[in-house]
Amino acid sequence: LTFDQLGLPESVLKGLTAMGFVKPSKVQEKALPLMLADPPQNMIAQSQSGTGKTAAFVTTVLARLDLTKPHQPQALILAPSRELARQIQGVVQIIGQFCQDLVVEAAIPGVIERGQPVKGSVVCATPGTVMDLIRRRQLDVSQLKVLVIDEADNMLGQQGLGEQCARVKGMLPKSVQILLFSATFPENVLKYAAKFAPTANQIKL
Ligand code: AMP
Repeated sequence: LTFDQLGLPESVLKGLTAMGFVKPSKVQEKALPLMLADPPQNMIAQSQSGTGKTAAFVTTVLARLDLTKPHQPQALILAPSRELARQIQGVVQIIGQFCQDLVVEAAIPGVIERGQPVKGSVVCATPGTVMDLIRRRQLDVSQLKVLVIDEADNMLGQQGLGEQCARVKGMLPKSVQILLFSATFPENVLKYAAKFAPTANQIKL
């Protein structure tokens, strides 16, 4: 499989090339055709760190955006720490560097101005911050198409974090595509993940 067999927008292909990615990694080869399928399907993907998971979900997110609405949140990427949310924001910006009008925001307290709406079509954040932002009506999730949860074993497996993720999901449109990525899925977390992302395709490397 090559990247240009996936029906990706030209701008995203250019971004992948600029990253120096010649062909999809194993997890990308398995996951991308399923994640990019129409109608969108949920995904539970297990693969070790360093295998290209971030680029897999970032590519999917970029392919799903309507860039004529640059300030309308369309994809939400949740991570367990603010630092990781920022790192992911950076990857979205680099792979998306040729996507015109792409706005990616890391919704981090102190970075987001008080009371100001979050304006990115892609929003990277921790679940706690997202809950606050939705409650304060600073984040409009009504048009959200994709929800990504990175490090899903931590995010769904930890008390507190898992509940926050569930609450956030409950505030999103029912049609949202859910993508769960993790290096490990202990059995109890996998059970929960399968409920969290109903009828998900599951891949494991
Ligand atoms: P990750 O698993 O997301 O932490 O990615 C690990 C590393 O693999 C990162 O440095 C990426 O830039 C790199 N990478 C991701 N996808 C590819 C690819 N298709 N070809 C070459 N390197 C890649």
